Amino acid sequence: AAAFTTETAVAWLRGFDEKVAAQAEYLTQLDSAIGDADHGTNLKRGMAAVAPKLEGAESLSALLKAVGMTFISKVGGASGSLYGSFFLEVSKALPDAAEAEASDVEAALRAGVASIVARGKAEPGDKTMLDALRPALDALGASLAGGGSLVEAAGAAAKAAAEGRDATEPLVARKGRASYLGERSAGHLDPGAASSALLLEALAEALAA
Ligand code: ADP
Ligand code: MG
Ligand code: MG
Repeated sequence: AAAFTTETAVAWLRGFDEKVAAQAEYLTQLDSAIGDADHGTNLKRGMAAVAPKLEGAESLSALLKAVGMTFISKVGGASGSLYGSFFLEVSKALPDAAEAEASDVEAALRAGVASIVARGKAEPGDKTMLDALRPALDALGASLAGGGSLVEAAGAAAKAAAEGRDATEPLVARKGRASYLGERSAGHLDPGAASSALLLEALAEALAA
């Protein structure tokens, strides 16, 4: 069987929608400490707008493209354009088909993360979503390279993303609104790293189901 299908992708996005909705207040609370208290609201609104588009997608690339376009048009702030470009680049790297191999999924996530880097110019340790996404991608790649299945690799990626999220707490933010606080941004988790950990957790759960 194919490693990744449209059904798995739909389950991934539904799972992310559910997690974001359930944790919207928590994500907004994280953003109230070092930002403008809207991260949970932004993502919840975006994923609510994505939900009706999950039915009947023609292909993996079409599905992820709809998600990216929705984020760009419906979600404000840094996370709207960053997650929007992430999903659009993931879409472009996925096949115009209902099935993909593990290597396609790895390449797609790599392209998505690269687009966040290109757009936001954040480096490792800048206290952003990339501090969850990059270790996740590294763990996914290492697991696949070691002969792991996509299910195992996604589990390793979710674990690495959660660790990366936790490791943002002591960091001083150097990108985004939180950077305006300087040293006072230390001692709080980065909201975007927290939502990115949910994205990887949802992927691992969808694949394991
Ligand atoms: P805004 O800051 O515009 O209100 P959100 O609150 O929705 O947007 O998202 C904030 C999150 O966006 C931050 O926690 C951080 O993870 C992420 N972020 C902000 N700027 C950048 C950047 N330049 N590169 C990567 N991620 C960033
Ligand atoms: Mg905000
Ligand atoms: Mg904002």
